[in-house]
Amino acid sequence: MTDAPEDVRTPTPDGPVRAISLLSGGLDSILATRVVQDQGVDVLAVHFITPFFGDDKRGREDEVVAYYRDAFGIRARIVDVSEAYLDVLAEPRYGYGKNFNPCIDCKIFLLRQAVEILHAEGARFLVTGEVLGQRPMSQRRDAMNAVAKHSGARDILLRPLSALNLPITAAERNGWVDRNRLYGFQGRTRKPQLALAEKLGITEFPTPAGGCRLTDPALGARVRRYFETVPPADRRPDDVRLVLVGRPFRLPGGSWFTLGRNQAENRVVERLARPGDEIVRAAGPPGPLGVLRPSGDPDDRARAAAVLLRYCPRAGPGTRVAFGPGVDRPERVVDPAEVDRAGIDAWRF
Ligand code: SF4
Repeated sequence: MTDAPEDVRTPTPDGPVRAISLLSGGLDSILATRVVQDQGVDVLAVHFITPFFGDDKRGREDEVVAYYRDAFGIRARIVDVSEAYLDVLAEPRYGYGKNFNPCIDCKIFLLRQAVEILHAEGARFLVTGEVLGQRPMSQRRDAMNAVAKHSGARDILLRPLSALNLPITAAERNGWVDRNRLYGFQGRTRKPQLALAEKLGITEFPTPAGGCRLTDPALGARVRRYFETVPPADRRPDDVRLVLVGRPFRLPGGSWFTLGRNQAENRVVERLARPGDEIVRAAGPPGPLGVLRPSGDPDDRARAAAVLLRYCPRAGPGTRVAFGPGVDRPERVVDPAEVDRAGIDAWRF
């Protein structure tokens, strides 16, 4: 994380009052967006995605935008910041939370991204659904101050749900929103939010799929390992995605190989394949599906075959393994490498 940028000068473009809200997908950010929008502000709600949060929206952006429009009357945009987010994780100024979650730096980064969108869209201020004291790490007053300062968004950052507990910002001072119609929520209770949702006619609550994977102990540990073992120049969001699902392996030749543990994961793993990857299945018996992202070492194919057969209960002596660009397009059949269980376990990522 670099030093704090200059505070953004309060933009005053001509025309209607526009704002950018950060839409995490949870109830608070929906409420914050609606509170400002219902005051006549033209709000664009930006939903950032990375391999660690929001990744289920990738590839179905139109559907998600339609969902926010129809369910909540919100104009949303999905913005993929995966590549740049890897730098945030590598060296967070404020460190990590309980697992590998750099919450304060994450918020600073996302606000900086939002500032760029604000300039591009001719918007005047930013909106978040943060509530003072709601989360232990990132929503303490000092953390919220740090987020405001280091994003450069201090005076243009409106938190409508807790605004009455926070200093006045440009949006209130300039009359772009009426402070009397903002809120003073504080602490961990959810009751005020539920009451506000009812008041705004929001009855269907979003269920964020999976939340943030960096807060998951097992997945966070995998990501930490990824950062410890892969040099910065070789880090890729698509490789991280393979590490975050099923059973991931790093083969001795440097290839990534991930196996689904059940049918649902097989489908997820299959969708992660990109051009150049190989879909791997036992030739014959049903069993797990894997994706091999080859490094160029030809021996990794036989190693991947050995790994797959280790987790294929219906495989017998002589079972071979098919590789190809699609499930129904096997291009070659390979004998497994000779390696024992301990050897395979050593490749586990
Ligand atoms: S939980 Fe995840 S998405 Fe949320 S602030 Fe922390 S790192 Fe960012």
